[in-house]
Amino acid sequence: MFHLKTIAKSAALKQEVSTLVKAVTATASVTQQPHRNYSEHQIPERLKNVATAPNPRFFDMVEYFFHRACQICEEKMIEDIKSRVSLEEKRKKVKGILMLMQPCDHIIEIAFPLRRDSGDYEMITGYRAQHCTHRTPTKGGIRFSLDVSRDEVKALSALMTFKCACVDVPFGGAKAGVKIDPKQYSEHELEKITRRFALELSKKGFIGPGIDVPAPDMGTGEREMSWIADTYAKTIGHLDINAHACVTGKPINQGGIHGRVSATGRGVFHGLDNFIKEANFMAMIGTTPGWGGKTFIVQGFGNVGLHSCRYLCRAGATCIGVVEHDGAIYNPQGIDPKALEDYKNEHQTIVGFPGAQPYEGENLMFEPCDILIPAAVEKVITSENAGKINAKIIAEAANGPTTPAADKILIERNILVIPDLYINAGGVTVSFFEWLKNLNHVSYGRLTFKYERESNYHLLASIQESLERYVDEDKSVQASLERRFGNVGGKIPVTPSEAFQKRISGASEKDIVHSGLDYTMERSARAIMKTAMKYNLGLDLRSAAYVNSIEKIFETYRDAGLAF
Ligand code: NAD
Repeated sequence: MFHLKTIAKSAALKQEVSTLVKAVTATASVTQQPHRNYSEHQIPERLKNVATAPNPRFFDMVEYFFHRACQICEEKMIEDIKSRVSLEEKRKKVKGILMLMQPCDHIIEIAFPLRRDSGDYEMITGYRAQHCTHRTPTKGGIRFSLDVSRDEVKALSALMTFKCACVDVPFGGAKAGVKIDPKQYSEHELEKITRRFALELSKKGFIGPGIDVPAPDMGTGEREMSWIADTYAKTIGHLDINAHACVTGKPINQGGIHGRVSATGRGVFHGLDNFIKEANFMAMIGTTPGWGGKTFIVQGFGNVGLHSCRYLCRAGATCIGVVEHDGAIYNPQGIDPKALEDYKNEHQTIVGFPGAQPYEGENLMFEPCDILIPAAVEKVITSENAGKINAKIIAEAANGPTTPAADKILIERNILVIPDLYINAGGVTVSFFEWLKNLNHVSYGRLTFKYERESNYHLLASIQESLERYVDEDKSVQASLERRFGNVGGKIPVTPSEAFQKRISGASEKDIVHSGLDYTMERSARAIMKTAMKYNLGLDLRSAAYVNSIEKIFETYRDAGLAF
């Protein structure tokens, strides 16, 4: 039932958007440059230089993209306010709500001592920012990296707000970072850091199933999430039956969900798939639709890079290069992601991988390919190198890889940038499913498996019985069946097809996660395309995605009231 509904809905969506995309193409070919109906909305003075800055602050970048989108949709928001107040009051209300979406609601900076295995002491610094609490809990990963700063965490939390709204995940945005290089610490030291950080967050109201729910990000994974869940459940959360819903990305045996580890990479694949199959979008960037023959280069071969690589190769694309922090490898014949994963697990690096040659040019990211996937860190595509990129599509698997100045250059060069707040939202989408599973205290499918399997066998048996009755009564059918199967004295075989046999027990947790993710990515892609067309944005999908998110958050505040 679930599948049928999904398919029916997606077919209808596809048709609707196909028509819209045709209209977009028609408009784009006339205007070349996207034309916007700018409202009076002003980009604040302090952000004016962000548009051209070679290395802007990350939080300023997100704010700048936000304001750029406000310029597109503010007038419409004013128009849409139905109450019988003056235009001036409507303007004030809209401005007030938009103002509310800009800063981080809460930020905490935590410092605590660590006693290292050697007996030496050192101070550890960490941050958590809750950007927007229009929906709670807030949600966002915890990053372990030496680059962590207050600015980075704020920016990432703001991006999470817009990302969740973009894919209809009902959370506000948050993010945490601990300023360490995890490779420099033993497992025991990492456990102490993680548990102490989680404890400090929980004492200050920065973690809890209904307040703020972290997840993995750079340098963290299932192991750290497991320590966090355990710390919370054994301390502040010890009376809370939902304590394990305080964090997602946990291992299965701690309440995790099937498909979470690979979810972001899988989402990157679906995100690309929705645009790559649109002939009109591909025509706009001068390429053909479909995966066959497409090449790609990925920067960062961690969780997101690896899984994106796996799903793209499975779809028929060829990975011709991988860039890591300590080297790059290249193979025009294709790099096998599984072999590279095994090699990296064994050697802790991709350098020396026998299935490719070392890349010795200026920068592998400038080599010609169809799709470039930055899946490592922010601000890697800047005004200084955007002109050298030779890809047709950029899939922002990492958060914030493109500066506003670079974004403008890429659009002018007719490169399709599929923005971070949409394309890497697979992780938070499946985290949402994990959180729901934790609150339900039962895994998806558990209550219905047996019932569905038996119902399906009853259905087959019932078809068989009615067929036999029909054959007994109708001599001509009997004759034709005899011609087809010989003497039909015995039972007429009604056997499930291979595809039906696979689904006979109903949807497993993995099936539900995969189809829920696929549906989410498709629905959001359609919404982005529709907005790009509505506001005549050409290839500027980032603004379209921001507009969608802003409009949704705006509606929440508009209808719930602004302030006490
Ligand atoms: P990860 O730690 O698993 O992997 C990051 C990889 O990038 C590592 O292999 C690292 O060596 C490499 N790297 C670091 N700096 C680099 C550089 N300058 N050049 C090339 N490679 C470099 O992290 P991840 O979870 O895969 O996250 C990667 C990006 O995706 C981050 O921007 C993160 O915020 C974003 N993201 C992650 C998730 C998730 O579910 N993990 C979800 C959404 C977005």
